[in-house]
Amino acid sequence: MTLCALSLGSNMGNRLENIRRAADLLENRAGKITARSEVYETAPWGVISQPRFLNACLLLETGLPPYDLLAETQAAESEIGRVARERWGPREIDIDILTYGDILLNDERLVIPHPLMGRRAFVLVPMLDIARDFVHPSCGTSIDELLAGTDREGIVRIVSL
Ligand code: AMP
Repeated sequence: MTLCALSLGSNMGNRLENIRRAADLLENRAGKITARSEVYETAPWGVISQPRFLNACLLLETGLPPYDLLAETQAAESEIGRVARERWGPREIDIDILTYGDILLNDERLVIPHPLMGRRAFVLVPMLDIARDFVHPSCGTSIDELLAGTDREGIVRIVSL
């Protein structure tokens, strides 16, 4: 079993329901959720003229190898109704694999740790809820140090996941 950190985000449809459904689908098919962050409303990143997101993070204990886990996250995204749109644009649900144990992977299908996790406050703030002692597997930086380099403005705690 491997402990993974996953990030969930939604800014289309019923955002909270989409995030909760994603967590349920992952628990049914990919492993056991051992921690859930609070849910935060956050400003869009990249393409800024789009609705605000809800974001959360999970710790998932999984027996699936990384590419099988990716297949399950993508199946959950399709089931929830994600439609292909522009990069960083609006989405019913986005599930990113942030970390998979301590492994480092980099190919055209999977980059782990997720390359932008250390720069995105909407990932780091929920991660702080569930993995306060997290250290970035490739750069060795603590979550507090990573957060200090990001803009946390406008991130509002909404509800428990
Ligand atoms: P996105 O639009 O953010 O959902 O990106 C989806 C694409 O990113 C898929 O084609 C995945 O193969 C790829 N990808 C690379 N690394 C990751 C990762 N750590 N977690 C999720 N998707 C990833």
